[in-house]
Amino acid sequence: MPIDATQPYDPNNVFAKILRGEIPNRTVYEDEWALAFHDINPQAPLHVLVIPKGAYVSWDDFSARASAEEIAGFVRAVGHVAREAGLVEPGYRLLANIGGHGHQEVPHLHVHLFGGRQMGAMLPR
Ligand code: AMP
Repeated sequence: MPIDATQPYDPNNVFAKILRGEIPNRTVYEDEWALAFHDINPQAPLHVLVIPKGAYVSWDDFSARASAEEIAGFVRAVGHVAREAGLVEPGYRLLANIGGHGHQEVPHLHVHLFGGRQMGAMLPR
């Protein structure tokens, strides 16, 4: 079920547990601001999730409340992961789902990074 993007942060969401090391993940990259790990149900040859270390429900929450440092750190981490994976020349796709219409399921901001194949049209019609 998609989440309500206006809900308060739930510290027991699955990505909060990953950040606390309570459940395993396949880490691709980590720094002060972000953690990147393989999606458990990949939808492309490379499907990595990049999440901020801070407690933010969604892109909306993050863009409204995060500090300039957190935002810069997170955005740079996403770009770094894509470059390190060799995705810049072939190209790749970033996706952030927000709330109900976005079909966001995990209530901790995450950007999907897809690569390794032609992604096709932007949205199903
Ligand atoms: P979204 O619909 O944008 O909220 O996407 C949530 C994503 O999290 C889905 O692609 C799931 O496959 C992924 N996911 C859920 N649980 C885990 C987990 N424990 N480790 C890695 N990815 C997960």
